[in-house]
Amino acid sequence: MEKIVTRHFGQENSHHLDNYRQDNGYEAARKALTQMTPAQVIDEVKKSNLRGLGGAGFPTGTKWSFIPQANPKPKYLVINGDEGEPGTFKDKYIFEQDPHALLEGIIITCYAIGSHKAYIYIRGEYIKSLERVQAAVDEAYKANFLGKGIMGTGFDIDVVVHPGAGAYICGEETALLESLEGKKGFPRLKPPFPAVIGLFGCPTVINNVETIACVPPIINKGAEWYAKLGCEKNGGNRLFCVSGHVNKPGVYELPNGTTLREIIYDHAGGIPNGRKLKAVIPGGISAPILTPDQLDVKMDFDSLKAIGSMAGSGGIIVMDDTTDMVWAAMVAARFFAHESCGQCSPCREGSGWVYRNVKKLYHGQAREHDLKNLPGIVNNIGGNTICAFGDAVSMSVGSYVSKFRSEFEAKIQSTVILSEAKDLKVS
Ligand code: SF4
Repeated sequence: MEKIVTRHFGQENSHHLDNYRQDNGYEAARKALTQMTPAQVIDEVKKSNLRGLGGAGFPTGTKWSFIPQANPKPKYLVINGDEGEPGTFKDKYIFEQDPHALLEGIIITCYAIGSHKAYIYIRGEYIKSLERVQAAVDEAYKANFLGKGIMGTGFDIDVVVHPGAGAYICGEETALLESLEGKKGFPRLKPPFPAVIGLFGCPTVINNVETIACVPPIINKGAEWYAKLGCEKNGGNRLFCVSGHVNKPGVYELPNGTTLREIIYDHAGGIPNGRKLKAVIPGGISAPILTPDQLDVKMDFDSLKAIGSMAGSGGIIVMDDTTDMVWAAMVAARFFAHESCGQCSPCREGSGWVYRNVKKLYHGQAREHDLKNLPGIVNNIGGNTICAFGDAVSMSVGSYVSKFRSEFEAKIQSTVILSEAKDLKVS
């Protein structure tokens, strides 16, 4: 299988410019800037079926085409490297192992959308990533791949590396823009969308790290080559982060359309100690959980959507048959309650309410009405909030309750038994 984003991973000094240049580095940017018009670049990316690999899965070329070129304001490119979704740890390897692939993708993207300034927003805890990317930016400036009149073309581009401060919600694109502007990371109401009013009120494209790292190979080898690697409407490969109960956790680059079963058993080595699989989160903690009968789903955006889940960030969390699903739901609910930004009431109050409810269930302190009320509480958050975080709370926790209801009911029964025993003792 042909590697794209991970093609340099593991090479000695893979993060240095010299290494990157040995493999045609920056030649895709040169080709775009000297042989193609911005419209041709956008068209090529559209034809490649590259989709946003941060989670949304929106067609990348189409997103770029939304930038209003007639608008006289500056245009910006923002790279979302916040990577806060639990179960997701792929972008950090691109930052650390091949930062020049990202920078070359940034140059091509900026050229396509008419931008001369890009910001790389990196999760604050990723210290090594920050250092490696800044060092790569410095190398690129020195070699005139960034700065004024790059590569003798007359095209100017500046790149700023910006650390986040640890809030999950700053991975939401408009909260990220607020954070970049020096404000509290509150998501914005949409519309207007960032393509029209984005960073500093200017047209802005926000793309994930992996998405942009795919762009140079597309320009080098062509859209058709890339599209054929993946499946229909979802070209190329994808980085899957596999964690939890597997023998070989890690990041795997595989074609879009590889099945979940293949990823877990053929690549990640299956479940340790001969245990059985009980549940899988397919795309980061926000994705509805799947059961063993759904393992043959293809891991692309449309196939996962068709079975009621989502490909999300590519974070696959595997749980074996020893996992208490009420505990797993409680961990997810605790995360959401902690990370809600608090702007809208259904999410701020609802996520805490959901967590307290599931926690009571897990600790054997719940009554029947607690379980009876849970789906209603969960469902009243999604669809009633400013950003998709509220939907994530509903979809994620709701899926545990609906798919593993018997385990939740068993907690009620044990609660009743416990309280009866207590009553007996008292009497
Ligand atoms: Fe904040 Fe939650 Fe509202 Fe999103 S849905 S804006 S995270 S309170």
